[in-house]
Amino acid sequence: MVDISVVVPCFNESEVIDAFHGALITALEPTGATFEICYVDDGSSDRTMERLRSLAGSAPRVRYASFSRNFGKESAILAGMRMSRGAVVVLMDADLQHPPELLARMLELHHHGYDQVVAQRDRTGEGALRTALSRAYYRLVRHFMDVQIADGAGDFRLLSRRAVDCVLSLPESNRFSKGLFSWIGFDTVSFTYQNVQRAAGQSKWGGRRLLNYGIDGLLSFNSRPLRLAIHTGLWLFLSALVYALWIVANVVLNGVETPGYATLITAIVALSGIQLATLGVIGEYVGRIYHESKRRPHYVVRETDDTTAVRNSGNS
Ligand code: UDP
Ligand code: MG
Repeated sequence: MVDISVVVPCFNESEVIDAFHGALITALEPTGATFEICYVDDGSSDRTMERLRSLAGSAPRVRYASFSRNFGKESAILAGMRMSRGAVVVLMDADLQHPPELLARMLELHHHGYDQVVAQRDRTGEGALRTALSRAYYRLVRHFMDVQIADGAGDFRLLSRRAVDCVLSLPESNRFSKGLFSWIGFDTVSFTYQNVQRAAGQSKWGGRRLLNYGIDGLLSFNSRPLRLAIHTGLWLFLSALVYALWIVANVVLNGVETPGYATLITAIVALSGIQLATLGVIGEYVGRIYHESKRRPHYVVRETDDTTAVRNSGNS
């Protein structure tokens, strides 16, 4: 058992991994704690795996696992947490956007009794549009979700062993970890740090990927969107009823012949739009049930120097 496990998901990070590793060691050594670093190569197509293998070969405190293809950051985090043996686990990005200097502060807060310490970034240096969209999204999420997730509170966090074990015991295969971390509860504290740009390489989060991630977040934690669909349907039905009565009354009282095209088309278009969207929502849940019911493993390990759980990446 070591004091600290640092879990680092890496996807095509060969340009920055050495700098990251150096900075991490520099930050960890002065704490006087024993530590291990668990790197997870998420099916990189560059030389990330070779770099990790040689880092692991040169230092006993470093272990790695490499996926057979890109399974996504959530799966990489999961594998890393399964590898970890530390009394606390810190999740960090490999691109130096999560400054290792903050580790000391996180550890100190943990010693004050917190099970989760979240380093929350502000949005310095980010495009205005992206900032505005993210803000709007988190407002929406606050409204919809049963669990609370904060803007900028990403995966840079420290978890106590019992919190990690709790997250690992959750069996779902669609893992939205921001939500899971919030769901497990325990005393959580967060502090804000200034956002930094990635040191080298490219962000893997384009617009489409972010949108899908956003949808995952909204749907992973409850069925409120379904409820919303029912409400919308009911309100539309009521207003259609009122409108129909009004037309009938108008014809009976005034004998007016109603020119119907415009209203008809509008109604059809609006209703089909809503129906399609609702079907989509239902389909999304059905798809999720289908997906979960297959109980596939979260990832497939191609290569690792870890002898424990990750190798047999069986479901949960
Ligand atoms: N990452 C990963 N698998 C992926 C995408 C990203 O393991 O499919 C890792 C990546 O190597 C990095 C972290 O997740 O360590 C954050 O990714 P990125 O910097 O691209 O995201 P951003 O900081 O732009 O949100
Ligand atoms: Mg990044």
